[in-house]
Amino acid sequence: MIYPIIGLGHPTLRKVAQPIDKDYPELDKLIADMYETMYNADGVGLAAPQIDLSIRLVVIGFRPYDEKTDTYGPVAEEHTLINPEILEFIGEKEYFNEGCLSVPDIHEDVLRNEGVRIRYYDEKWVLHEEEIHGLFARVAQHECDHLDGKVFTDRLSPLRRAMLKRKINDVVAGRVRTHYRMKAPKK
Ligand code: ZN
Repeated sequence: MIYPIIGLGHPTLRKVAQPIDKDYPELDKLIADMYETMYNADGVGLAAPQIDLSIRLVVIGFRPYDEKTDTYGPVAEEHTLINPEILEFIGEKEYFNEGCLSVPDIHEDVLRNEGVRIRYYDEKWVLHEEEIHGLFARVAQHECDHLDGKVFTDRLSPLRRAMLKRKINDVVAGRVRTHYRMKAPKK
């Protein structure tokens, strides 16, 4: 099932999400639906708050994209993060161009660490504590921000945010077109 995605301005995106346990109802189905929702929207990461569920659950998935045919190859890498905790930021800080399914039409360079030491449960409730790097670390940091009520535009400079004010207001008001379904903002 594909969930509608909530946009910036929806209060759930600003809440600190709650941890879950093994008894969470129909968790396997929810995780599968989150992957489906993410791929349908051409995303590489999705946090449960983005589908209006305030729980600490993230899916991340990478598929090779072929520009010529505008198609995706088979999934190359997937990570389900349950109750993730970033234990340490490691490596250099670097800029990388980010976007967010909840903030359509805005793509900005965001400064983050190249790697993190992270602890999380996977979908089989196996505990992982590991150093991760590169794209996985970048997306994990972006998605863990969602669990704490933050979005990537919060990390831009005040000047940059001021320059984006009109575009951000359009997102908040629901005045953006997306090829995936978004939940209408609360009036
Ligand atoms: Zn996001």
